[in-house]
Amino acid sequence: MTATVIDGKAFSAKVRVDVAGDVALLVDKHGIKPGLAVVLVGEDPASQVYVRNKGRQTLECGMNSFEHKMLETATQEEVLAKVNELNADPAVNGILVQLPLPKQIDEAAVINAISADKDVDGFHVVNTGLLAVGGKGMVPCTPLGCIMMLRDQLGSLSGLKAIVVGRSNIVGKPMAQLLLAESCTVTIAHSRTKDLPGEVRAADIVVAAVGRPEMVKGSWIKEGATVIDVGINRIDAPERGAGKTRLVGDVEYAPAAERAAAITPVPGGVGPMTIACLLANTVTATCYQNGIDPKNI
Ligand code: NDP
Repeated sequence: MTATVIDGKAFSAKVRVDVAGDVALLVDKHGIKPGLAVVLVGEDPASQVYVRNKGRQTLECGMNSFEHKMLETATQEEVLAKVNELNADPAVNGILVQLPLPKQIDEAAVINAISADKDVDGFHVVNTGLLAVGGKGMVPCTPLGCIMMLRDQLGSLSGLKAIVVGRSNIVGKPMAQLLLAESCTVTIAHSRTKDLPGEVRAADIVVAAVGRPEMVKGSWIKEGATVIDVGINRIDAPERGAGKTRLVGDVEYAPAAERAAAITPVPGGVGPMTIACLLANTVTATCYQNGIDPKNI
């Protein structure tokens, strides 16, 4: 079997078109232009690129984009004051504080200071709880993108066996909750899991979110499984020339693609979906804040 390659770039472009359509409706029918504020503390080069991309795509969808840059030396009080200012600003419907934060700042305290209804990253404990009980909250962007791709690929996920490798608060745990909400039978694996190959072999759906290059081996994948590779790992690529690097996922792609029915590539799979889902979450947050049904704007 040679897997269908799930094209996250094309899928995310479709999501952004839908978001732009929803934004146009919010503006035309309700006179509301959604606004997303991004707070960047410090000079981390990767974070700067992410923030720039988020700002550009926010504007392209017709929303307002507000960028707040703070010094690497900013104090906890200064960052909390910024979050509170944005919480109180009616032009701001979504707030994202770019992670990681400098070490003098308590990330959990900052995340939980964001108004839960403006928490478009879905990391606030209120949103984490709402996801667990099946309530109406904000869902973390990367797992949301994964579940959208799975639904698109498979239709109903009901009754399928899914494994999530990784149990972080931002990917693994919310991913498992979303799969459970789709009526999958869910296994969550982590660094203490005893027989990872055996657990993966039993799964119809494999979501890998480990952060270790190609650690999920192709030979572990069940014939016909669907594989979602969240990992983004930069490795040396001497074959491309001295000092060159390339990106790989957490799954050994080529042999996995021989066995899977469908698989996301790295890059070009889950990655592009994350920002698209952030934009979709900003529209959802704007709707909830204004008593509008996001499915019927
Ligand atoms: P974390 O480092 O927070 O979590 C990694 C998880 O992997 C942990 O739960 C850890 O287990 C588990 N793990 C580590 N080693 C093993 C092992 N040998 N066997 C089984 N499980 C193991 O990572 P994140 O969840 O933040 O990110 C995971 C990957 O996803 C990274 O490559 C990251 O870059 C990528 N990512 C991609 C995004 C995108 O937009 N596409 C967005 C966010 C992340 P334990 O808890 O026991 O330590």
